[in-house]
Amino acid sequence: MSMPENYQPNPDLLCGKVILITGAGDGIGKNAAKTFANFGATVLLLGRTVSKLEQVYDDIIEQDLAEPGIIPADMGTLGMNTLEEITEVINSRYGKLDGLLHNASILGERIPIEQYDLADWDKVMQVNFNGVVLLTRFLLPCLQQSDAASLIFTSSTVGKTPRAYWGPYSVSKHALEGFALLLADELENTSNIRVNIVNPGATRTSMRAAAYPNEDPLALKTPEDLMPLYVYMMGEDSLENGETFLG
Ligand code: NDP
Repeated sequence: MSMPENYQPNPDLLCGKVILITGAGDGIGKNAAKTFANFGATVLLLGRTVSKLEQVYDDIIEQDLAEPGIIPADMGTLGMNTLEEITEVINSRYGKLDGLLHNASILGERIPIEQYDLADWDKVMQVNFNGVVLLTRFLLPCLQQSDAASLIFTSSTVGKTPRAYWGPYSVSKHALEGFALLLADELENTSNIRVNIVNPGATRTSMRAAAYPNEDPLALKTPEDLMPLYVYMMGEDSLENGETFLG
């Protein structure tokens, strides 16, 4: 699935919307946060490196856009207290959540399964899948308060077709796709929340550089190139549910 050809979003498409982005300090997440803010949203920046989130916050404030929120959290170690705190802050400050972009993830090592250290395997599954399930579970009531919410899960080509040596990254993205489609089905007739998957495809970020160190980054599309699709999926021009969009 792709966005309509020559899609031109209205500049205030996301005005009044409250959108949480995980992994908002770098790469695609950073760009999505700044772009959603430019389209009028109040963005909530979740990530594990506060200095990076603060930089994104400053960039948005410098442009006189709606003041973002910063949510320091590690997707790999989300506990009940943190989850309850996040929900409480969103409920008390904003009263709703209109969008949730699950973007944070880690690559892990690309080695044969028999060599995989169990703790390393668990860490990737925790950040890329279990943490995502937990955060979604706790934020669903906030999303239910929106008139039209968009819940987006970020997968990968190896989340659809397994690839040798990609271990828990590939497995976690398969699990994520299953969870997203389950949720899309579950929420279709019972809520105003639409649930979709995005596979950004090869994009010039530090994760891609770590995965393909010999590749020329200049040959790849940039996170900015993806933003029309991300805006489309987040805004109310898109009515799809249970679809996978390719960047
Ligand atoms: P980056 O590595 O550039 O950025 C990932 C972001 O996630 C960083 O801000 C990072 O924080 C954050 N993050 C990592 N672990 C955690 C954690 N435990 N808790 C909270 N935040 C965390 O990746 P990309 O921008 O390239 O990737 C974004 C998404 O797109 C990922 O889901 C990835 O799987 C997917 N993707 C990317 C492709 C590509 O070619 N780039 C291709 C296919 C899919 P910090 O800065 O602190 O490390």
